[in-house]
Amino acid sequence: MTSLADIRSTFLDYFESQDHEVVASSPLVPRNDPTLMFANSGMVQFKNLFTGAETRDYTRATTSQKCVRAGGKHNDLDNVGYTARHLTFFEMLGNFSFGDYFKEAAIPFAWEVLTKELEIPAEKLLVTVYHTDDEAADIWKKVAGLPDDRIIQISTDDNFWMMGPTGPCGPSSEIFYDHGDQIWGGPPGSPEEDGDRFIEIWNLVFMQYEQFEDGTRTELPNQSIDTGMGLERIASLLQGTNNVFETDLMKALVEASAHASNTGIGEDHIVHHRVIADHLRSTSFLIAEGVMPSNEGRGYVLRRIMRRAMRHAHLLGAKEPLMHRLVPELVRQMGAAYPELPQGQAAIEETLLAEETRFRKTLERGLGLLEDELEALPGDASVPGEVAFKLYDTYGFPLDLTQDALREQGREVDIVGFDAAMEAQRAQARAAWAGSGEMADESVWFDILDEVGPTDFLGYATLSAEGVV
Ligand code: ATP
Ligand code: MG
Ligand code: MG
Ligand code: MG
Repeated sequence: MTSLADIRSTFLDYFESQDHEVVASSPLVPRNDPTLMFANSGMVQFKNLFTGAETRDYTRATTSQKCVRAGGKHNDLDNVGYTARHLTFFEMLGNFSFGDYFKEAAIPFAWEVLTKELEIPAEKLLVTVYHTDDEAADIWKKVAGLPDDRIIQISTDDNFWMMGPTGPCGPSSEIFYDHGDQIWGGPPGSPEEDGDRFIEIWNLVFMQYEQFEDGTRTELPNQSIDTGMGLERIASLLQGTNNVFETDLMKALVEASAHASNTGIGEDHIVHHRVIADHLRSTSFLIAEGVMPSNEGRGYVLRRIMRRAMRHAHLLGAKEPLMHRLVPELVRQMGAAYPELPQGQAAIEETLLAEETRFRKTLERGLGLLEDELEALPGDASVPGEVAFKLYDTYGFPLDLTQDALREQGREVDIVGFDAAMEAQRAQARAAWAGSGEMADESVWFDILDEVGPTDFLGYATLSAEGVV
């Protein structure tokens, strides 16, 4: 069986042999970008090289990057456990060109890695290109010999990448694997796209233009390449499954969760185990970097992920805190590649145990309140925003946890009402806030909150509340 570790080294070795510098993963917490929650792709640590603000003694690089997508623009938290392909923590393999090679080399590199190095049958692959990017379509045809119906032209922004409102941007090309027609789903760009049949494995971004404030674009003098391939996704297909949770590593964590909770891995329990397995990884890696659960900023995102997992542990019938008991298995699985895990093991276990102990005190009462409210509601009516806000404020239920709980019943939260209740409290908090004096730029969290809104980023609450301390 091709393990994750084998795939990682095959990828990095290949690009090293093509004169790429092997660069270590950057931390999840970006060092100089307060607006970005967590590294969510391989290019994050190279931003300044793409804009030309910084140069190094290499123009080609390859990495395996730790990524967390649990907030902001890329938020896959709600997908976890429910799709076959989304994790909140994953590793992204990438190759990068900083004004060095462009499409003509990036496409052949990708094709060679997939079909020669990883021996994936060519007939299983299909690609998308941006509808105006005939150049990329032609290269795919020439290099891979793909027929026209497996080079799909897409006109949506899915195939046009932008670093921000201004700056480098360009068309992208996504590579998909077809798991065959016994699995539901339609080709990329079709209405049935979001099934599990066609799984995106690799994204190639061609940084071709520079976008200016007035909306105009010019060709970049130094065109660049940024690519990202999901390690767990490629591992799943090489291991004969279409589900990232059935790869060697994730399976071991799912089994650890089943063992620790004394439950099986049948249909009744599997979603809980998958959520727990994924959230164990994202929370442990964040704690290993020194992020602590709190009520603001990154610490709050961490808390949201933790509490979500802890509700699923509760649903499994766990009578005692569960998450910390899974850490040894995580360290066994990933400690060799990521020494911060064994180094941080004690802190990870302690933090998980303390949070779960604290949260369990209000979890049951909060769930009880939710039950009572649901009984009083007709049919599939959505849950009033004030109820969700009370759960948040009094019982420490992040909004997405409440939404996740309601999902099982096909109900939703009245977001407008929730936002209004949150806004009222926030206005009060802002008026009363004079700064703690600890950090010069604490106000940045207010700015982020203003930018993304409270439903996306529940990052600040000053009023102390039971359960949210
Ligand atoms: P999708 O459309 O499936 O959500 P994406 O287009 O958002 O994927 P990219 O931003 O292009 O993903 O990231 C590059 C690669 O990283 C993807 O091709 C995929 O292999 C992998 N990837 C992205 N999101 C996840 C995730 N949540 N879990 C695991 N792998 C992921
Ligand atoms: Mg996505
Ligand atoms: Mg995509
Ligand atoms: Mg993509």
